[in-house]
Amino acid sequence: MINSIEGLPPGLAASVSAEEKSHIAGIKLRGLLPFAVTPHFASLARPERDDPIRRQFFPDPREAIPDPFALDDPLGEARHRVAPCLVHQYRNRALLLAAKTCAGYCRHCFRRAWIPGKVGFHPDPSFRSDDWNAAFAYLAAHAEIGEVLVSGGDPLTLDDDKLGELFRLLRGARADIALRLCTRVPITEPSRLEAKTIALFAGFRPLWLSVHVNHPRELSAQSRDSLAACVKAGIPVKTQTVLLQGINDDPALLAELFQDCLELGLLPYYLFQLDLAPGTAHFRVELRRGLAVYRELGRLLPGPNLPVYAVDLPGGGGKIRLHENAIAGERTSEKGAEYVLKDANGREWYYPAG
Ligand SMILES: *Cc1c(COP(=O)(O)O)cnc(C)c1O
Ligand code: SF4
Repeated sequence: MINSIEGLPPGLAASVSAEEKSHIAGIKLRGLLPFAVTPHFASLARPERDDPIRRQFFPDPREAIPDPFALDDPLGEARHRVAPCLVHQYRNRALLLAAKTCAGYCRHCFRRAWIPGKVGFHPDPSFRSDDWNAAFAYLAAHAEIGEVLVSGGDPLTLDDDKLGELFRLLRGARADIALRLCTRVPITEPSRLEAKTIALFAGFRPLWLSVHVNHPRELSAQSRDSLAACVKAGIPVKTQTVLLQGINDDPALLAELFQDCLELGLLPYYLFQLDLAPGTAHFRVELRRGLAVYRELGRLLPGPNLPVYAVDLPGGGGKIRLHENAIAGERTSEKGAEYVLKDANGREWYYPAG
């Protein structure tokens, strides 16, 4: 794991400006998301400051600019947390925070409050299966839950033994439950998906992967091989993408990304409007512009290949689909200009305008 400028490939290390250096030096003191990237992901970056790969892992001085719209718990998960690591927001599916580590940090991450600053392929030693027990008990008592999203952090930072233990315990709680692994590791560290890992997945069907991928250049030869091997082994893979200012907010580029995914047998699933995590405002695409990008994307991709454009309503309203009529109005709050959005029950929620 690379977590210092000196650890970067020489071309990238040489590209770091004085301003970036001083920002990195202050990250810990300011309590910002730490800097960490896998050698594989770093190898995909180019030295230009606006490179779409570099920007996703390299700390940006703009992270320190206060954002009035930022929320510490952008998805309002605390409202729906039924056990220390289980979020039950939708009737028939629940989300398990199974790991507190990531293979590297995405600068746009909305889960930053959960991951404690540890990176690498070692489960946080303070976070053991004992902590999962309350979640298993809840699942056992709630037969309406048919699917568990195994998330984190990144669950693929757990080793195969630990993952196998987790899957066995989940199926012990509920023999019939479907498993959805939410991960970025096939992109950031594709070598993690060894043949024995894929065989482990295959032994726990129904199980599918939801892979976080944002740019066509993230689909390296190694990532393509790993993901194609999953599909070949009968593990469905769907994608989720975050719309990011200056990185992928371009219809032709997104069309290329989703076409590439389809060729590998991956199904485009979600395109997310950015969540309001602290230090990420410079990644936010103006909502009306996001809608325009999506409209154009719809012209470039056949309907069934188009992911759903959605937002998690800030503060805990849940996911809604975004389309031209989703904006119910505008208002000005003490934070600034906001769009009015409505959840399935007609309740109003707000997302920054501009
Ligand atoms: C996104 C999410 C889900 C899954 O929703 P899908 O629409 O099935 O992808 C489940 N639980 C929580 C808490 C979520 O945020
Ligand atoms: S892999 Fe997911 S949880 Fe981890 S830093 Fe990236 S977005 Fe956040």
